[in-house]
Amino acid sequence: MLPLVNTKIIATLGPASNSAEKLEALIDAGVNAFRLNFSHGDHSFFEQLIATIREIGEKKNLDIPIIQDLQGPKIRLNKFTNEQKVNTGEKLDLPICDHIEDSMNRICIAFPGLANEVKPGQRVLIDDGNLELKITGTSKDQIMTIVQKGGTLKPRKGVNLPDTKLSLPSLTEKDIKDLEFGSTQKIDYVALSFVRSHKDILELKNYLKKFKLNAGIIAKIEKPEALMDIEAIADISDVILLARGDLGVEINLEQVPSAQKKVVEVCRIKNTPVIIATQMLETMTNNPVPTRAEVTDVYQAVSDGADIVMLSGETAVGNYPVETVIMMKKIIAESEKNLFTASNSLELSENTDKAIALTSAEITNKIKAKFICSFTYSGWTARLLSKTNTRHPIIAFTPLKSTRRRINLYRGVKAFHVQDNINTVDKLIETANDELKKLGIVNPGDKIVIVAGQPLGRGGITNLLKVHTVI
Ligand code: PGA
Ligand code: MN
Repeated sequence: MLPLVNTKIIATLGPASNSAEKLEALIDAGVNAFRLNFSHGDHSFFEQLIATIREIGEKKNLDIPIIQDLQGPKIRLNKFTNEQKVNTGEKLDLPICDHIEDSMNRICIAFPGLANEVKPGQRVLIDDGNLELKITGTSKDQIMTIVQKGGTLKPRKGVNLPDTKLSLPSLTEKDIKDLEFGSTQKIDYVALSFVRSHKDILELKNYLKKFKLNAGIIAKIEKPEALMDIEAIADISDVILLARGDLGVEINLEQVPSAQKKVVEVCRIKNTPVIIATQMLETMTNNPVPTRAEVTDVYQAVSDGADIVMLSGETAVGNYPVETVIMMKKIIAESEKNLFTASNSLELSENTDKAIALTSAEITNKIKAKFICSFTYSGWTARLLSKTNTRHPIIAFTPLKSTRRRINLYRGVKAFHVQDNINTVDKLIETANDELKKLGIVNPGDKIVIVAGQPLGRGGITNLLKVHTVI
């Protein structure tokens, strides 16, 4: 029997996990949400995959959040044929091309206009920083560099320019097409890569409106500019994702842990769920056991206050996707044993809804109630309760499927369907009582704490707290 945990797990899908059989095994092992990486794969492939996930969800009676991860302005080398070794100290001229499908016979950086954006002295990092070049000059369609750290140039590898402020749109043409496709699939979350400021999030919001897509926004923090604007980004995003892969190339690697702590703390103050991602159990991509350091990393992320942890290559292309999830869940369980302190909980303020959420978590703990049970439309009440860091699971009732899928990503939240015609507080209490009994998770005499917003049926208010003894 696997431990029950509150911290949620996202698995990135790929060849190692795309089959219906593997998806089910991952869910059984403890995956709560799936990430589809739109850097790889075409729309017909994703359409099929989304249909399979939703079918499994129906079968298992689970509302599983699906995250569409947009590639964003990621710079890559083209798809050339022959790998090329370059040595430290060597001069290297790199042409600029329009598209990664450019010529296969030469190596180029697929990013039109790049030569106008960079300046001599700036660094070019390739393949997660495995190779480092320094720019010595530019011409219209190429950059001249000296190799600072040699290695092998491989096709399609990522290129980072940590010293350059790029004047790029936050959504590329490809992202906009992908988003339009996502809207036809009623995707639950859209993750935006390489966010630079909260303005990028506002732009994405406009596109969501245009495509009539009611999805949550996940801001991927992987640029130093985003760290500078993190408060404003956390204010207007639904979820924050600390993308340590690119971040570790864009800032000094040794600064990643302090960036993580800062982002988690800002998300606590702003009540924004936060995902810690990349290389969490990297060794398990090819090995059945993680390193001690990786185990400690997952443990620490949870005790720092991460709401969600994410697997990338481990579940997308690894040899042990299910084993990795099981390992992750065991580490989370161990970390959560020591987690529940006031210090990493919601900030108490004059704000009524936060005060109600925090107080209800305290009351639940004091009177040893079995659950906090919330009624929500927009998911706001569930989000606040989730950020209180209560050890109790939060049962969230809502008639809206899109809300259920969205809030199932929040730490500790389990969303269930409820009918839409609850119009008195008495009826609400009776419904909580009966639904929890139907789910078989309470017995007469158990105490539950109910949180809702009155007037009933409106989203975005939390002002009602009731202690109820199940009858
Ligand atoms: P990616 O994002 O896998 O889309 O690059 C995660 C990261 O950069 O850590
Ligand atoms: Mn990234």
